[in-house]
Amino acid sequence: MNTSLFSEERQQFPLFNPVTPEVSVVVPIYNEVESLTLLIEAINTSLSGTELSYEIICIDDGSQDGSAELLKQQAMTQPYLKAVLLRRNYGQTAAMAAGFKYAKGRAVVTLDGDLQNDPVDIPRLLAKLDEGYDLVSGWRQQRQDAAITRLLPSKIANWLIGRITGVKVHDYGCSLKAYRQELVADLNLYGELHRFLPALAFIEGARIAELPVRHHARRHGRSKYGLGRTFRVVMDLSTIFFMKKFLTRPMHGFGLLGIISMSLGIITGAYLTFLKLRFGEDIGDRPLLILAVVLLLTGVQLFCFGLLGELLMRTYHESQGRPIYRVREVIAINVNNSKEEE
Ligand code: UDP
Ligand code: MG
Repeated sequence: MNTSLFSEERQQFPLFNPVTPEVSVVVPIYNEVESLTLLIEAINTSLSGTELSYEIICIDDGSQDGSAELLKQQAMTQPYLKAVLLRRNYGQTAAMAAGFKYAKGRAVVTLDGDLQNDPVDIPRLLAKLDEGYDLVSGWRQQRQDAAITRLLPSKIANWLIGRITGVKVHDYGCSLKAYRQELVADLNLYGELHRFLPALAFIEGARIAELPVRHHARRHGRSKYGLGRTFRVVMDLSTIFFMKKFLTRPMHGFGLLGIISMSLGIITGAYLTFLKLRFGEDIGDRPLLILAVVLLLTGVQLFCFGLLGELLMRTYHESQGRPIYRVREVIAINVNNSKEEE
């Protein structure tokens, strides 16, 4: 392996390609050595059929099966292929985020590196994107995965995510998607949130479309996920729900609950005090007393969470220079008049 920091290959194909391609295809790769060559060929075949200029960005997510070496070798001979090798295995979301960072294309397409998604569908996705959408999500109508361990949890998850986020996409789990560059630049990905990209995009104000795509059974290698992901999806779902509803106003969520809980606590407490003072009843061993105390304390805590949330939200937006809105377009004859240009 060449460890020189300023090797010749790097000068020949600099990390930052100055030419801006029209399409960037982003593929996370984790132990997919048998599929890699076929995959790159298939993407090439599919995109060379269009008139578009493109780049393929493969992110090696710390593979141990030689994918990284193969990828490096390929990237040194194919100028449109960029290999980004991560130091260790960070997970699919991180790999995709890395890919988005290097993607220069006006449109960015993502797909899995195991050939389950078919690159043949890419031009159709791009055509749909061109109709004016910010995100086109693939829908694996005839999905080739195990029924009980895969399809069923996925069906439930899609329904649940749709219900909770209000973004009704049939197939959140489909990696084959196309995005506009501006949208990708706005997305912040953490944990395993790549599964919720349409919902996150919706929070960013994206126009979303769906398109049926092909799906094949895995021919090489193994799936990286088991049933455990179902639980992670449920956790992530609550994050997304909160982000969608209360990201810019956490006090409205927590504060309201806090006030309701506090009020109920005060009413219950007042009732008990009344009984004690008016009738001299013994209230010390009444379950109602415990309820009053719990409600009151919970209420105070929720209220404080709301306040903390407000502070954190301000830090979140201000530290990253993220405004609380997203502009789609500015139309003005005299652009220099707009404040942002100054
Ligand atoms: N992947 C990755 N890092 C990981 C796990 C997966 O980059 O830690 C990649 C993997 O190589 C594949 C894609 O993410 O290209 C989807 O993974 P997989 O096919 O195992 O998921 P499934 O299709 O079974 O849902
Ligand atoms: Mg797969």
